[in-house]
Amino acid sequence: MTPEQLLAIDHRHIWHPYAAMPNTLPVYPVRAAHGCIIELADGRRLIDGMSSWWAALHGYNHPRLNTAAQAQLQQMSHVMFGGLTHEPAARLAERLVSILPAGLDKIFFADSGSVAVEVAMKMALQYQQAKGLSGKHRFAAIRAGYHGDTWHAMSVCDPETGMHGLFSRSLPVQYFLPQPPCRFHETWSADAAFALEDLFEQHAGSLAALILEPIVQGAGGMYFYHPEYLRHARRLCDRHGVLLIFDEIATGFGRTGKLFALEHAAVTPDILTLGKGLTGGYLTLSAAVTRNDIAAAISSSASGCFMHGPTFMANPLACAIAAESIALLLESPWQQRVADIEACLKKQLITAREWPCVQDIRVLGAIGVIEMKENVNMPTLQARLVDHGVWVRPFGKLVYLMPPFIISTEELQRLITGLLNALAEEYGMPV
Ligand code: PMP
Repeated sequence: MTPEQLLAIDHRHIWHPYAAMPNTLPVYPVRAAHGCIIELADGRRLIDGMSSWWAALHGYNHPRLNTAAQAQLQQMSHVMFGGLTHEPAARLAERLVSILPAGLDKIFFADSGSVAVEVAMKMALQYQQAKGLSGKHRFAAIRAGYHGDTWHAMSVCDPETGMHGLFSRSLPVQYFLPQPPCRFHETWSADAAFALEDLFEQHAGSLAALILEPIVQGAGGMYFYHPEYLRHARRLCDRHGVLLIFDEIATGFGRTGKLFALEHAAVTPDILTLGKGLTGGYLTLSAAVTRNDIAAAISSSASGCFMHGPTFMANPLACAIAAESIALLLESPWQQRVADIEACLKKQLITAREWPCVQDIRVLGAIGVIEMKENVNMPTLQARLVDHGVWVRPFGKLVYLMPPFIISTEELQRLITGLLNALAEEYGMPV
């Protein structure tokens, strides 16, 4: 198939994320991807700044993940999980339990991040019901948060930038806290938790759980907030019998400089969701992990079980790759790599700090964010970025980098330079 034929079929039949049909924005056909390079069908080679939305930790086409996938394919790609089990799921479960905080050891494997969020919310509701607290059926979340596109995940996304307006007649109404006002690198001040305390005082009686992205709010705004906020949340949840759900789908597996973002605060949630980087970006797989007493309460309720069971639950191929991806991560000097990426982003993105079009620049771990004052012009900026040999996908006012951890110093330099040059051209800035 020629690239022209591919594009014609794509345009005629295929929906892209958050896109019109037919698509009004350009898409770029990809031929292959390896290491940190995405190779377009026309031969251009782009340095990847996105890790395919936080997922491809080890870059693309990694020999060890390929071998794990091929070995598993020789055994079976999939079998149902109802009434059957398999070694890939067991190996992955063991690995996860060994790296998660003590006590989080009951794992539900689901298909995607959004579904893991649905599962976590269902767990919280079933738990409260099992405790005879069916009045506790609502959720609290934080503004500018993002937890996915499915129904209840959507209900805890930011009510303005999320899709609440469109679906408001059918979406459940949740409680929303303001974005934590104290940023990651600022000095904590007690009033940064007032809104949280206030919400619990007024509504804890009807709250099943508080759900949030620890430390880094991702798709809702790429905002980094203070670890102390999480300690306050933990204390309030404990005091009021509200479960605490951490959505580590984006932050898990090293991205913020810790294996899990919760480690910045040394706080353990009651339920944790994982996804994205879980399979090193190879296949869709997610998990909702909880404690024994929560699992036991759900299991001793009238229903006698947890009410969820997707067709592709614990897909063996995905589990085998995920187990290998975690092994690969732990064997690698990932902390040093993330620290090096952080240092480089901090040093170089600063070039754009004084540009009048730039609102803020922030870096944490292997995440670098340039927040513009206005929404970017996607088609023109995207084309410039590609012309400069980098794959960066801005949204709204946010232009950000989160490269694979294996990126070389030279590739990272080219990625940052390409980004800055594209932006300078777009906004008429000198470089
Ligand atoms: N939670 C968070 C924090 C996310 O960043 C995302 C995806 N961007 C999701 C949930 C949803 O994951 P998925 O797209 O795999 O459904």
